Amino acid sequence: MKKGSISVQTENIFPIIKKFLYSDHEIFLRELVSNAIDATNKLKTLSSRGEISGELGDLTIEIIADKEAGTLTIRDKGIGMTEEEVKKYLNQVAFSSAAEFLEKYKDDANIIGHFGLGFYSAFMVADKVEAVTKSYQEKSKGITWSCEGEPEYTIDDSDKETRGTDIVLYINEENKEFLEDNRIEELLNKYCKFLPIPIKFGTKTETIYEGEGEEDEKEEKKIEVDNIINDPNPAWKKSPSDLTDEDYKAFYRQLYPFSSEPLFWIHLNIDYPFNLTGILYFPKLGNNIEVQKNKIQLYSNQVYVTDDVKEIVPEFLTLLHGVIDSPDIPLNVSRSYLQGDRNVKKITGYITKKVAEKLNDLFKNDRSTFEEKWSDLNVFIKYGMLSEESFHEKATKFALLNNTEKEFYTIEEYKEKIKAIQTDKHNKIIMLYTNNPQEHDSFVQSAKGRGYDVLLFDTVIDNHFVQHLEYKLGDVTFVRVDSDTSDNLIQKDEKQESVLNEDDENKIKGVFESLVSTGGSVEVKAMSPDDQPIVITRPEFMRRMKEMQALQGMQGMDFPDSYNLVVNSNHDLIAKKLVEEKDEGKQKDLAQYLYNLARLNQNMLKGSELTEFINKTLNFLK
Ligand code: ADP
Repeated sequence: MKKGSISVQTENIFPIIKKFLYSDHEIFLRELVSNAIDATNKLKTLSSRGEISGELGDLTIEIIADKEAGTLTIRDKGIGMTEEEVKKYLNQVAFSSAAEFLEKYKDDANIIGHFGLGFYSAFMVADKVEAVTKSYQEKSKGITWSCEGEPEYTIDDSDKETRGTDIVLYINEENKEFLEDNRIEELLNKYCKFLPIPIKFGTKTETIYEGEGEEDEKEEKKIEVDNIINDPNPAWKKSPSDLTDEDYKAFYRQLYPFSSEPLFWIHLNIDYPFNLTGILYFPKLGNNIEVQKNKIQLYSNQVYVTDDVKEIVPEFLTLLHGVIDSPDIPLNVSRSYLQGDRNVKKITGYITKKVAEKLNDLFKNDRSTFEEKWSDLNVFIKYGMLSEESFHEKATKFALLNNTEKEFYTIEEYKEKIKAIQTDKHNKIIMLYTNNPQEHDSFVQSAKGRGYDVLLFDTVIDNHFVQHLEYKLGDVTFVRVDSDTSDNLIQKDEKQESVLNEDDENKIKGVFESLVSTGGSVEVKAMSPDDQPIVITRPEFMRRMKEMQALQGMQGMDFPDSYNLVVNSNHDLIAKKLVEEKDEGKQKDLAQYLYNLARLNQNMLKGSELTEFINKTLNFLK
């Protein structure tokens, strides 16, 4: 047996390793399996270059838990190490890179969580670590390196006869969980699901059917088979031409077993000026965007790194699902640095461009499908337009507006459609919309009665989107159908004559003012005799202010709900019935009744007032 001491330049890092990374002990497994993968890949490379002759044999990596012995072994059949290499790599390279890593990042537990310390992370969970290894090189002997978490180590001969390395961890008291099958399998599934070499953890029982004939004549048999954790050849690494739609959907199910089918996907594949592969899926978003967010998984050469990709993809793309794999994203640096990184910026730009191209293709090649999917897509596209200038530019070609007739138009198409009728006296194109066609039915009907078209804007993001489009388009103003009486939604110069004289108008105004509670104003206006006698409107500007305020969660300085009561002086019930009623009590009753009808129309009549109104109506009908 030979003894040696790992040269300690700085302080002793073993206690630091053990204490420091308390919350993220689990990453040791990823680190050690990654090393096993590297060692196996190196062997394959040598073989493909002809530097090793003969068959390589089965290269499966094995994870073996032995509860009795208290050990967890990571076994590979890779290149192995000679004695010199063990001394060099495990005592010097691994040690000094671990020391350097800790020195650099000891204040940033976040990064350490994502990255390991390589080989030495084993000491987070083990009191003693052995490496039993035999190099692929001819005439090499098996050796055992052993270290008990002190700078001292020993090297012994070993009778290991097969090529490769066993890393044996003597799991310490506090980390016994890492000897439990369930826990190990959970970690392997998290970090190793798509590693490129098969990884075996124990066996599992499978049912097979043997014999001739019909299904039910066959004999059911249970057999033990290797429990292979990973899919070494995941879809994103394949060529799109080798994949069917079903393959893409199957991969999606593999990633998110409980999600409903994706709408469509983009296969990313670029090797210059950076290397990136992946598949991004458009999920069915539904109305709860938050639950769909941040599901993209980031890999580096098929090693799972994180599902926190906020710094790498633009915010709106975090609504997508899927996998991004890039060895070029600098992972071992701090988050704030990442945002400024040029590679990351290029990657962000590339992904944004690809997503826009995909949507544009779909729109151009199959518009009807695109329209069908619009209700699932629109929040995503609008969010993108709001948050990414470059995406806005591209999306104006395929972003759709849909109206209450369920027709779809691009922004340009829609402008063309309504320009002639819906341009106001200031030369602005007025786009009318509703966020609730049920509640706004009478307004929608009135607007349509005038030949106007009404858009539907009923998603969570539409308040912002409307403002955004106004700002971007310049010549368009959005007006909600209930913000004014239909004759005034689009301001033109033509004026309707009133049949009432000024005196009568003032009297009428006074009657209604005595009814209206605070926060409302009364206007007597000459409209068409066919319009409603009373219309309650919510002025656009005040409503938007209130909505913005609600969105920003500002409380306290509450904007009052502001309503306008518009009395149609040309309606018979006003011009004749109300004006001509000389009994003040009866006049007031009639006004109250008309006012309540208008409130009923707006869903504003509630509780005891509603009951009273119904009773009054029933009495009247008797
Ligand atoms: P890194 O993998 O980042 O180089 P590590 O600390 O994980 O750092 O490992 C240090 C070195 O030890 C590796 O570069 C490799 O040469 C060697 N090594 C570690 N594990 C194995 C293994 N299973 N088989 C062969 N060599 C290994």
